[in-house]
Amino acid sequence: MIGQISLFIVGVGLGGGLFGCLSNLYNKRAQALIVEGFTQEKRVLQEENSNRKTVAFSALFEGFLGGAATLDDQGHILRSNRALHERLGYEDHDLQGRSLLGIVHPEDIVHVQNFLLSLVGKKSAPATSPHFSSELRCYTKEGKIVWVHLSLSVLHDADFAEGSETPRLLALLDDVTRRRQAEGVVARLGAGVNELYRLISDQQSDFDTQMQALLNLGCHLFDVHTGMLGKLNGHQLEIMSAVSPNKGLRRGNSYEMGNAKQRTELPASLRASRMEHWRDQPFVTMTQDETFLGAPIYVAGQLSGLLCFSDTATREVPFEAEQTQFCQLMALWIGSEIERRERYAQKAQQDAALLQSNAKWEAMATQDGLTGLKNRRAFDERLLAEFNRATQGTVPLSLMLMDVDKFKHFNDTFGHPAGDEVLKQVAKLLQGGVRAGGFVARYGGEEFVVLLPDTVIEDALITAERLRAIIEGGHWPQRAVTVSIGVASWSPGMTTTGQLVSAADGALYESKGAGRNRVTQATALPLA
Ligand code: GH3
Ligand code: MG
Ligand code: MG
Repeated sequence: MIGQISLFIVGVGLGGGLFGCLSNLYNKRAQALIVEGFTQEKRVLQEENSNRKTVAFSALFEGFLGGAATLDDQGHILRSNRALHERLGYEDHDLQGRSLLGIVHPEDIVHVQNFLLSLVGKKSAPATSPHFSSELRCYTKEGKIVWVHLSLSVLHDADFAEGSETPRLLALLDDVTRRRQAEGVVARLGAGVNELYRLISDQQSDFDTQMQALLNLGCHLFDVHTGMLGKLNGHQLEIMSAVSPNKGLRRGNSYEMGNAKQRTELPASLRASRMEHWRDQPFVTMTQDETFLGAPIYVAGQLSGLLCFSDTATREVPFEAEQTQFCQLMALWIGSEIERRERYAQKAQQDAALLQSNAKWEAMATQDGLTGLKNRRAFDERLLAEFNRATQGTVPLSLMLMDVDKFKHFNDTFGHPAGDEVLKQVAKLLQGGVRAGGFVARYGGEEFVVLLPDTVIEDALITAERLRAIIEGGHWPQRAVTVSIGVASWSPGMTTTGQLVSAADGALYESKGAGRNRVTQATALPLA
């Protein structure tokens, strides 16, 4: 028959190590100490009377820094020490007679239960001493969940079992809540870094969409309900973007940023990211936030805004250093993104202005001031391009050169300004009379040129005749205005644009000689 199993639960102090390795080390060390203590006790107890044994055990039990309890073989708590009471908030009488399983989270009970069951009916041999070690959740008296590392070991100490050789358990209970929380935070931040990277590399989204996603990410990572990005305008903090159940925190709303001293201290307090620096800021008072994490936003080296995450609920554990750093990283990125977008907008503006002025200059450089037609320079460029096309391929190209008849006389009779009006009118009639693809330019003085790409001489002559007739039939208040035209087409012997122009010019000369107001086709290549 198994006698009474004494189960010692020893909790290591509240301020246990943050990270697993530390707590495990501490746990093991504590376990070793206790085992050693019991072993020594055994020797002592073998020599001394039972009263003395109890006193020694009590001293060890109560003096241990962690919580401790003894359990019977059903897992009921017989006795628990002060450290355990402090950690879990129970009094001795709350725990006495209560099952250990009663304070373990239902989802974690099964492991402990199995272990206890495995001991029933066993007289375990020292060499195969059963051991239990696991992290699980326990309830405090208030019903809050704390994570503990529970380790149970069976001791083989006949003396402690009052004569019978029964296994006893040594259990170490280490509070790992903070470590668990920190690990959770760090794991979430790890995923958060990826998300932040994805967000900031998304060049397609506009700034507002990016900020909303960023604030949502921050709320998730910092476990708060409000995220806000504000712009500092003198004494005011203007909200640029917000994610909040608080209806007052809306884009465009402005809040006082406190007195001059508070504003001067703002950058330092923002960097500190601590609530006490913020509590009396009017905008914080307005939101009635109790939890606050903030970071300043610098644009081009100037403090220009604030990124903050907050909640009306009081936070029990402080923000992890990693969370503060993450918030600062976000603020840093926002600052540089605002800077980049400002630079980009500025450059886009400059580019647009440059493009506009270029277009203006380009137009001015290729346009004739009086008639609005393309000028000689533009014509020369276009002629070369079309000439090369005709030379390289087999596309035809025709050209007509025209000259206003007896124009000197017109100027002399009606004045230069009237002559200008005639030139403008001729230009207009030509532009309107040429079909798509034709290129009209003022060649100089009272001479005009029409380039007809992809046009054979026969069609060019028809066009020329049409244009001549249009001019002749125009409305001329002072006197009839006519033009003489010479038409030439590219032919395989031509190697320069000048040859084509000369051919048309020769034909024009012939038109003049033949009495003007007519169209003449160039007959042969002029001699070089
Ligand atoms: P033809 O029939 O042989 O071409 O006789 P024409 O008088 O037209 O020829 P000429 O070359 O002797 O005279 C051309 C005139 O065109 C001389 C010049 O005053 C006039 N002219 C040239 N450019 C302009 C201009 O921009 N405005 C005005 N009003 N006249 C111009
Ligand atoms: Mg002339
Ligand atoms: Mg003339």
